[in-house]
Amino acid sequence: MTPYPTLLSPLDLGFTTLRNRVVMGSMHTGLEDRARDIGKLAAYFAERARGGVGLIITGGYAPNRTGWLLPFASQLTSSSEARRHRDVTAAVHEHDGKILLQILHAGRYAYHPFSVSASAVKAPINPFRPRALRDVDGTIDDFVRCALRAREAGYDGVEIMGSEGYLLNQFLAPRTNRRSDAWGGSPEKRRRFPVEIVRRTRRAVGEDFIICYRMSMADYVEDGQSWDEIVALATEVEAAGATIINSGFGWHEARVPTIVTSVPSGAFVDISSALAEHVSVPVVASNRINMPHAAEQILTDTHVQLVSMARPLLSDPDWVNKAAGDAAAEINTCIACNQACLDHAFVHKKVSCLLNPVAGRETELVLSPTRRAKRVAVVGAGPAGMATAVAAAQRGHRVTLFEAGDAVGGQFDLARRIPGKEEFTETLRYYATMLAKNGVDVRLRTRAGVDDLASFDEVVLATGVTPRIPEIPGIDHPKVLSYAEAITGARPVGRSVAVVGAGGIGFDVSEFLVTDESATLNLKEWKAEWGAADPQEARGAVVTPIPAPAVREVYLLQRTEGAQGRRLGKTSGWVHRASLKAKGVQQLSSVNYERIDDEGLHITFGPKRLDARLLAVETVVICAGQESVRDLEHGLRGRGVEPHVIGGAALAAELDAKRAIRQGTELAARL
Ligand code: NAP
Ligand code: SF4
Repeated sequence: MTPYPTLLSPLDLGFTTLRNRVVMGSMHTGLEDRARDIGKLAAYFAERARGGVGLIITGGYAPNRTGWLLPFASQLTSSSEARRHRDVTAAVHEHDGKILLQILHAGRYAYHPFSVSASAVKAPINPFRPRALRDVDGTIDDFVRCALRAREAGYDGVEIMGSEGYLLNQFLAPRTNRRSDAWGGSPEKRRRFPVEIVRRTRRAVGEDFIICYRMSMADYVEDGQSWDEIVALATEVEAAGATIINSGFGWHEARVPTIVTSVPSGAFVDISSALAEHVSVPVVASNRINMPHAAEQILTDTHVQLVSMARPLLSDPDWVNKAAGDAAAEINTCIACNQACLDHAFVHKKVSCLLNPVAGRETELVLSPTRRAKRVAVVGAGPAGMATAVAAAQRGHRVTLFEAGDAVGGQFDLARRIPGKEEFTETLRYYATMLAKNGVDVRLRTRAGVDDLASFDEVVLATGVTPRIPEIPGIDHPKVLSYAEAITGARPVGRSVAVVGAGGIGFDVSEFLVTDESATLNLKEWKAEWGAADPQEARGAVVTPIPAPAVREVYLLQRTEGAQGRRLGKTSGWVHRASLKAKGVQQLSSVNYERIDDEGLHITFGPKRLDARLLAVETVVICAGQESVRDLEHGLRGRGVEPHVIGGAALAAELDAKRAIRQGTELAARL
């Protein structure tokens, strides 16, 4: 008996049946935008259909030119474009999956000069001012035509994108709809546009075609929709012919995070469940659901009937099959870092996954079984070493993994202790499981020497990094700690702290130092911290944030001038910056570190070393970047062994798990 009976049970939609309750939510991969990438897109979806997903939803396709996300971005407007999609639909159907095409009109989020919106109100995150849409009827026709083309292409249905602040959402909210014609001026008139799209689409496509409507159940912006309006929309969309209602949370310009790691697990399920009580069509829960036990619990304890995951199926295409095979421990759990998926999408790079670099490159990075099993030594069990060891062992090589410490994980073992990054523990669980399953000989507390390695067929140095020790007078003072000492609690940290270095780790350490209990583990506190109201209580679901008080006084310092955190992730950096600001962390730039002594840290500012100041802190934590550890390299070469150097050991300046895991996997594919 499976531990996930509801999750894995079919869902009868009347004219068709989904094989289970798992929906792969829409996510733009970048492969949609160019005709020549359609084969790669088909391979990407085929892999997820083979992995057992019940229903796949494509990235967004515009119904017309004004709806493009970017100039010449994905659209579906003609029969010739529809013909190309047949490769995608056939690939999914071959594996008994079902697939919907998402119709997305970007509205004022379109990054081009032809953008339109309900009214000419510029988005705070886009330099292009939209014009008010004149031909609303014509745009409805474009949605209908797009749905008909999707049907021609063999799709099982369409998802009409009505959330995240895109065009339909813009018509629904007073924030962006200032019209006084038939499409604005009252809640009923604001709803007319999306409801008409569903009604006319249903009339055109017939009864046996899925229409999923993705609706914003909490806008998380001022002057967003009220709960009454949201409920009314749901009932009207159902009456107009929707088969399924999917959930969306937060506009792209919202200041409430909805997808990053620090958002609590299943944070928005209650809202979807409350909405589901008002309709009879199935409602899909979404956002921050990534493991089968959580999904099962959502389906049994609430009114939703499906769960949507996008990124978790990028990180593990076999997610459903592993759940069905009672092998959840083997799931490569998405940690919601966004580093290789959404961060790529926003800079128009192709999407992949930090944990699974094969994602989006299914036809290029292939881990086929080896014809000649080799003895492979991997030194260092951080992300680069673990990824190499698992992938090489999966290909059939005999792998020994040496680790000087007493646990695998490297920098991930530190990251998981940061408030909001608790889910990094899942990655360590995944690797521990896969190392054991694939027979990797893991030697902990073993510092490998040249003699230990010289007899292997291949030697991989993934020895990582050591923290840089800056040349500051007084750096040996007992009040100076490394970031590892601070995070692991190896040495006590005082009530007032100066953090030297404002890179990713300086931000993480500051968050760690000001936080007592992680709000990620307490939904009520997290909502208060970000001002995320219950949509039933406040229009737009926003109230004034009430962050928990900081437990330490923290100064975050950098030598560079200007704002801190500019190199943090595109989609997650703002969350880190806002969080430290809310906690009162004092951020100082253009700093010169003059000396550390019993009084504290003495600093000056700028090239002329002006404005001397004493930060009278009890502790100084050094987060000044890294230096590579590659001490074995020379000795190995002396014995005629040419090692492969990867990860932080290869390039500490850009220490980065995405590169480390990709390098390790690519190397394993070549061994
Ligand atoms: P980093 O991002 O390179 O930052 C190092 C910091 O140290 C810089 O702010 C630099 O600022 C300062 N620094 C460098 N040399 C120094 C010196 N000699 N004396 C004093 N300060 C010095 O490195 P990191 O913070 O160790 O992070 C490493 C990597 O981990 C990042 O590249 C990132 O990919 C990843 N990471 C990301 C996150 C995240 O996105 N939230 C979190 C953790 C880790 P100045 O030169 O201006 O002083
Ligand atoms: Fe998840 Fe990060 Fe992979 Fe994106 S890159 S799918 S957020 S683990």
